[in-house]
Amino acid sequence: MEEGYYKWLNKLKLSKKVETFWWRLGNASIPTNLYLKNRKLFDEDACARGCDMVEDYEHISVNCKHLVDIINQLNAWGIPIPTFNSLDHCLTELKQISGKNLGVVQIYCTIVYFSWKNRNEIKHGKSDLPYYAVAANALFVAITKATSYLSYWSTNLLRESFISWCPPPKDWMKINVDASLTPSGLAGIGGIFRDCFGRFILAFGRTLIHWDIAHLELDAILLVKDYVKSWMKDYKGVIIESDNLNVIKYIQNSLKKDKGAMTLKLVSDSLFVSDFNKVVFVHAHRECNKVANLCATMALDDSFYFDSFSFDDIPPFMVNLIKVEYHPPADCN
Ligand SMILES: [Zn+2]
Repeated sequence: MEEGYYKWLNKLKLSKKVETFWWRLGNASIPTNLYLKNRKLFDEDACARGCDMVEDYEHISVNCKHLVDIINQLNAWGIPIPTFNSLDHCLTELKQISGKNLGVVQIYCTIVYFSWKNRNEIKHGKSDLPYYAVAANALFVAITKATSYLSYWSTNLLRESFISWCPPPKDWMKINVDASLTPSGLAGIGGIFRDCFGRFILAFGRTLIHWDIAHLELDAILLVKDYVKSWMKDYKGVIIESDNLNVIKYIQNSLKKDKGAMTLKLVSDSLFVSDFNKVVFVHAHRECNKVANLCATMALDDSFYFDSFSFDDIPPFMVNLIKVEYHPPADCN
């Protein structure tokens, strides 16, 4: 490993244990089965978890089936985490992504560490955690206030889970927001809150007069604060999706430390970030944001608010859309 690797690693601001793991990986001091076999400490170099492949550094950080299961689970929650062909490919890409989207890299590095930890449980005769529990733990640990903005896009991520709405992890909530604008300057902003089954929590829409669509979608995100109830703080975290990249970029820029303190304060105060344990912003595909899009369109007519008490007042076409995106408990990990 070249010296640049450690400098780069240091900039990732990983949790201490995760950073130590990657430091040791660079140092070739992680005791994989291949490592142990080369030192005649163990006869078997295959993956400790039964992949039928040599357990080298590439395997534990890129190829292991159990690692890929964790990544797929995060993708199924709408969290865009890439997969790689080789360790070289992985490190080259992660370096590139870290400049624009540190959060994605932090999550990837944390997943690899948690997957290795889980592998050690097996190796020492204990039982491992299921992949969805590992995925949820890694997400929770990796996400910090400064890096919860995930908008990484890559062709290998255009899987089905990214072009349809996906439920969040267990005990998390997902909020979709959108805005629509007519040529006359009439605008609607709207959103919907759902749980890990895609169960309806609440929906809102507000009519506004506005000209600038990018600013509007930001308003929709800021407006969410008005609908946050104190009991929602019991959720482990919340994922906020918008299909407008400008809005996500605006938030990212506002939260960069080198920008004006005023903007930072305005956005971070309004974003109710402190109201939840963890907040993740995701730039979603348009198809993931259908109900929010409908809410925004409905808001062009009139402002509205629906929750479980007024569920019967929700127009049938919206109920149908919500039903299509409902994920029965059996599918929810
Ligand atoms: Zn494996």
